[in-house]
Amino acid sequence: MPPPTLSGEDIAAWIESAAEVLEREKMLLTELDAAIGDSDHGINMARGFAAVRARLGGLDRGDIGAILRDVGMTLLSTVGGASGPLYGTLFRDAGQKAAGAAALDLAALAGCLEAGLDGVKRRGKASPGDKTMVDALGPAIDALKAALSAPEPAGGPGGASLRDALGRAAEAARAGAEATVPLVARKGRASYLGERSAGHQDPGATSCWLLLRSLAATVGA
Ligand code: ADP
Ligand code: MG
Repeated sequence: MPPPTLSGEDIAAWIESAAEVLEREKMLLTELDAAIGDSDHGINMARGFAAVRARLGGLDRGDIGAILRDVGMTLLSTVGGASGPLYGTLFRDAGQKAAGAAALDLAALAGCLEAGLDGVKRRGKASPGDKTMVDALGPAIDALKAALSAPEPAGGPGGASLRDALGRAAEAARAGAEATVPLVARKGRASYLGERSAGHQDPGATSCWLLLRSLAATVGA
């Protein structure tokens, strides 16, 4: 039976696996950014998460808020472009919400990601449909919240539901990222292209999906 909560160890394992995935998928993100940006998103994300990963060993596993805040501050200081400040804000604000928590259940996780999304929206002023990372993160959080109000699956108090909910959140992020293809970008570099930004998947929405897929895979393992 999987645990009904995420521990600091789980969060650290997630970040570790996210760093691996972003390194492995660097070319995919770079190619997406080549089509509607400046070809640096893969490099930005891989560099940022390599720096984050290098600090993981020194972080206290007993405070999830502190881990997430440290991830955010490291991304803020190591990643340039639009995505560094935005992902930095996402993790930092999620960490502020989780301050002092040794474990997160589904409701706490949804609340903490929502605080991160609010921070991203405040900083980047993007709304749903603007063809940004918000279009993957928003639906993922909606899926977590929908799972919260769904009845408990047979066979477990909470544990199975956390894993299932994360699987559904990752799936919603994937669908959200794919749904950015026909959109015209209204924020960031891609917006300079106007109508020509349509027909391409947003790189930031795609990296957001990869992050959430890593989280689901970590808990599902
Ligand atoms: P840059 O655009 O500065 O080169 P990156 O290539 O690393 O930075 O990141 C681009 C991604 O950042 C976009 O695909 C988009 O998802 C996201 N992004 C850009 N501007 C915003 C914004 N204002 N709000 C939310 N996300 C944004
Ligand atoms: Mg770029």
